[in-house]
Amino acid sequence: MTDSYTKAVNSGFTKTLATKLGLPRPAVLRRFRAGDPLTVGPVLVVSDEASTGDADALARVLLGWGLDVRRQPTDDTRWGAVLLVLTEAERPTDVSAAVLAVGSVLRRLATNGRVVTVSRAAAEGDAPALAAVRNGVDGFLRSLAKELRAGATGNGIVLTDDAAVDAPSVLSTLRFFLSARSAYVDGQLLPVGPADADLPADWDRPLAGQVAVVTGAARGIGAAIAKTLARDGATVVCVDVPAAGEGLARTANAVGGTALQLDVTSDDAGRRILEHARTRHGGLDVVVHNAGILRDKLLANMKPAQWDAVIAVNLEAQLRINDQLLGDGSGDDGVDGLRIVSLASTSGIAGNKGQTNYGFSKAGVIGHTRATAPLAASRGGTANAVAPGFIETEMTSSIPFATREVARRLNSLQQGGQPVDVAEAIAFLASPAAAGVNGQVLRVCGQNLVGR
Ligand code: NAD
Repeated sequence: MTDSYTKAVNSGFTKTLATKLGLPRPAVLRRFRAGDPLTVGPVLVVSDEASTGDADALARVLLGWGLDVRRQPTDDTRWGAVLLVLTEAERPTDVSAAVLAVGSVLRRLATNGRVVTVSRAAAEGDAPALAAVRNGVDGFLRSLAKELRAGATGNGIVLTDDAAVDAPSVLSTLRFFLSARSAYVDGQLLPVGPADADLPADWDRPLAGQVAVVTGAARGIGAAIAKTLARDGATVVCVDVPAAGEGLARTANAVGGTALQLDVTSDDAGRRILEHARTRHGGLDVVVHNAGILRDKLLANMKPAQWDAVIAVNLEAQLRINDQLLGDGSGDDGVDGLRIVSLASTSGIAGNKGQTNYGFSKAGVIGHTRATAPLAASRGGTANAVAPGFIETEMTSSIPFATREVARRLNSLQQGGQPVDVAEAIAFLASPAAAGVNGQVLRVCGQNLVGR
């Protein structure tokens, strides 16, 4: 479901016209299809001198994934991806040659190409020069992503807590950023820590054997999440309100899962989810808090019911369900190894006029995710959030045309995302190999120009 403008400027006469008039030409993004190559061409691995060992280690992994890996820029190559490893740089001047080497090949980065940086997080006690270079990578990557064209994206992996460069979670994050699964993730830096985790036996089915619950699964992003988790091997429990029963049954049938009619705001929602997952599927591994509503109004005109409904569905329900699933930590009343992924929004980061209630709820989701992360980790699980930007759904198709057109172009990829783009990020965070990603907010927004 590419928007009609993107379609028009990429085909026939209208393509020529758009080029002549200098109109923005958003690329058709490459999305995951089983059997397609991981990248669209060879991968160049570049590093500063001190990080050569780490770059070698990653190059070996990429070779093992069947990629064509090169260590020297050459003039005649159309690069599928560039990996810039800066893990051991100690001062800003250390990275100059490596970043300029990346610059020298950017004109030959393929359509839908990838640039991925791997660096370390600045930490308390770092020497000022070390903190400068580590933080510098952040500003470099965000700026570079804005310079990339033709559907190419730039994202960064930031190693924390002495994580090894070839730790399983680092590799699964690298694979996600290189692949078509991250089509609409752009300009993001994801902190990744060390964690005990196995890489999947089959990268196309990283959720094999897992039981996942998706709330709000009857339509829109929730239906796409259910389908993507099932495609990746999970057995999916689809939850939605009884009024959405038809759509719910459709999704559950499509994914070969089960349907649970449930209002997530009910007091015992968490217990009912757990009981359903255990009795029907023998356990629970993943919960995706996707159910959400809008009741947009300027605060001056906001009715109590409009404020309260949004907080109840988008925020309080997630808190209560998490409490019931994680238990009080004292006994066997909770779930071990649970992966929680919650839907936030860029509105909860940048704010949005007419959305004080929604912005509160989504910023609240980010707050509780960070606080839940250590609780989940104490039982071997994780809690993360995904913050979508403008996604093409029934919800956003009701926005008046002019506003919608501006909203969907205000990002580096000059287009709205698809529900599947959000779903791919959630599937990645839910996968066992992503255990080292915890308490994070991953934006799926094409590097939306608002917010950080
Ligand atoms: P949608 O309105 O199309 O779907 C939401 C689903 O949640 C519906 O099926 C609805 O019946 C269900 N739901 C609502 N209240 C419920 C309740 N009390 N109990 C159980 N189910 C309930 O919305 P969408 O666009 O697919 O959005 C999904 C999530 O993504 C929401 O959390 C939304 O805030 C977030 N999001 C969407 C966008 C976007 O651009 N569409 C952007 C940022 C964030």
